[in-house]
Formats: sequence, C-alpha cells, structure tokens
Amino acid sequence: MSQAFPRQTFPRHGQAPAALLDALTAMKEGDADWRGGRVPLYVFGATREVAEIGRDAFNLFFTENALGAKRAFTSLARAEAEVIGMTLALFSAPEGATGTMTSGGTESIVLAVQAARNFARARRGDAAHRGNLVLPETAHPAFDKAAGLMDLEVRRVPLAASLRADPAAMEAAIDADTILLVGSVPCFPYGVVDPIPELSELALRHDVWLHVDACVGGYFAPFARDLGRDIPVFDFANPGVASLSADLHKFGFCPKPASTVFYRTAAHAAGQGFDLDVWPNGRFATSTLVGTRPGGGVAAAWAVLRFLGHDGYTRLAERLLAMADAYVAGIEAIPGMRMFGRPDLSIIAFGDPGRDMGAVAEGMARRGWVPGLVRRPAGLHMMMSLLHEPVRERYLADLAASAAEAPAVAGAAVNAVY
Ligand SMILES: *Cc1c(COP(=O)(O)O)cnc(C)c1O
Repeated sequence: MSQAFPRQTFPRHGQAPAALLDALTAMKEGDADWRGGRVPLYVFGATREVAEIGRDAFNLFFTENALGAKRAFTSLARAEAEVIGMTLALFSAPEGATGTMTSGGTESIVLAVQAARNFARARRGDAAHRGNLVLPETAHPAFDKAAGLMDLEVRRVPLAASLRADPAAMEAAIDADTILLVGSVPCFPYGVVDPIPELSELALRHDVWLHVDACVGGYFAPFARDLGRDIPVFDFANPGVASLSADLHKFGFCPKPASTVFYRTAAHAAGQGFDLDVWPNGRFATSTLVGTRPGGGVAAAWAVLRFLGHDGYTRLAERLLAMADAYVAGIEAIPGMRMFGRPDLSIIAFGDPGRDMGAVAEGMARRGWVPGLVRRPAGLHMMMSLLHEPVRERYLADLAASAAEAPAVAGAAVNAVY
C-alpha cells in the first residue's frame, strides 16, 4: 500500500485564517453532496435539531481530552459513565455487565476480539494460544483487521439462502481452537439481521464467545422491534451473547467519533484493558486502544441520547422504516430489479441479475449520485438515513433511467472498492 504525494514546500510563513477557511471551503466544492442525499454511506443524518445539539455539545468540549477523564476532566468520566449506563439498559445487559465508549466500530471490534482472545487464553492457561474466529461471510472486515493485528485465524462461512448467517454452517467450522463467533445486526452488505438467538444457543453449546456486531443497527433495531418489525431479540437477553458493539456515530446520530462496546461480565471485559507499570512516568492504564480521545465525542453522545430519548429514536425509526419501505417498493417496481435479502432496517442492496449493474452504477454516477456497490451479487447498496428521505423520487427516476440504458447481460461484475 503506497501512495505518491506531490512534493510541496513546508509553508515558511503563516497565513491569515480567513484566507485558509476560504481555501478549505473552495476545496470542499468538489466533494459529493451528502446534504443533498447523494452519498449512500459515511454520513448519517436525522433532523437539524439532532445535528445542532450534537455539534453544540461537541464544541463545548472541543479541546478537552477524554484520556484525561480520570485526572483532569471528571465531567467526561461522568458523561461516559452515564452514556454506558443508559446504553447497557437499552441492550438488556445483566447486573455486572460493563462497557466502554470508543472511537468507532473498528475500535470496538478490535477490543472485543482482544478481550475474547485474552479470555480464551486465560481459561486455557495458555498465553500463546492461537485461536480462530468463525464469521458469517458478511461480517465486517474489522474482524479480519483485528485478527491480523493479533495473529488469529479467520474462518468466513457461507450464508443461508436468506443471506443471513447459517448457524449449521458456522457450527461445522467450529473446532477446539475457536474463540469467537460473530453475528451482525444487521450485516453491512445486505442489511439483514443474523439469527442471534440461534447463534447464542450455538455459542452456549460449544462454550464459545459470541460477539454481536450491532455497529450499524444497535441504535436503530431496538426501536424498529418496538414498532413491530420482525427482528429477533439480539442483545444480552440471549444468554450466549458475551459482547456487543454499537456505533453511536451511525444510527445513534451522534457526532463522530463515538461507538460503544459492552461485555456480559467483568471477567469478559478483563481482557480489553491495557495496564503497564514499567514506564518512567508511572503506571499507564487505558480501557481502549487509543490514547488521546476527543472529549467532544463523549459529551455529544451524552447530549444526543438525552435529547432524543426512547421516544425520539422511535419517531426517527418510524420515519426511516417508512422511507426504506418506499425505496424498496420503488426499486422493485423497476423491471428486473430485486432486493438481495429482505432488508430489516434501512440498509439495502439490490440489483437486476440480467443487467450490467456496473453500467447502472456509472449511469447513477453521471447523474450525480455516489453509487454504493455490492460485488456478490453484483448490485447497488445504500445505508439510508433521513438525508435520503427528500430525494427518493429523484433517486428512483434516475435509477430507472440508468437501468434502461444499461446493457442486458447476465453475470456482469461490478468493481467495488471501499
Ligand atoms: C460501520 C461498521 C463497522 C465499523 O465501524 P467504523 O465506525 O467504520 O469503524 C463494523 N461493523 C459494521 C456492521 C458496520 O456497519
């Protein structure tokens, strides 16, 4: 991995703030129009009020460092403890469960994998044990990133026909060295929720750690369930769930960076922390991977969760689900176009198996949309937030036009790079 950077001179003299801000504003002009709903992932929008309280709370703690929450900024320690307290309740965590705020889903997952690895090593009394992770094919690449960092083996297992995790296929991949099973709520590629109750039973039967990756859906799925959507109980109410990750900066609608990771017991959480006592400055102990952490992310999450509350998130979920249903109906009204799996929330993947979906994506790009892509099966992908609500008609019209232009060829590939 390398990128050639054009050589520049390091600026000799400072420049005026106004000129710099103008220059940055001009640089931004070429960016994709996320406010206009043209970007199918990366940013998640609710209402203007939610964005404002998140931004204002973030700015109130713009300079504070959450690394110093214990010694200098006790307000942040309190805010984080309250965020974790509130969210443990949301995920039916039992007495004794615990959690941490992190900078994002990847960090939450790396920490959960580390905790599972250390838990397995401690139980075996083998500090060098090399375990394996059994994942459905759709699990997020962050698990492979974690496995790469910790030299663990990854076993990606084929899905059921529904594109959900297949517990029987996962069971067949488990052996004596398996230290972690994963289910997603929902998976990124198809937006479908894995059968967590069955995976929980599997985990108990084999006495293996189950991590629920609710990074994208953790702050959406509970409210969708309350609204009557057919989503399985996916949280700690399942006795086999050892840990769970949920990103506040996705459908929690909190400013980046903010995620949460939770553990059933203190013993499960024990392997997450870092504690070094040989440093000249003294003992260095952190609960997460990073050192310096923006205080703004913690304060903003505290404020957004309280601003919305259960009612606010439920109202947003209702709008999001109605919007997603209307997109699905509109897409499936285009001849040949069908969903890949039945989406449980507002993450959708779809295509026409008889059409060159790469050409459809190019047609959408020409019409000003950043196309989200899926490679298997070849199609388009969107993680839709309320930013996508006002542009539905336009999107569907452009999709129909792009599909009508694209060559009718079966089996054409799309080249997706994330
Ligand atoms: C986004 C996502 C992640 C990774 O989260 P980041 O915040 O991008 O690091 C992990 N799992 C799933 C299912 C996700 O959608």
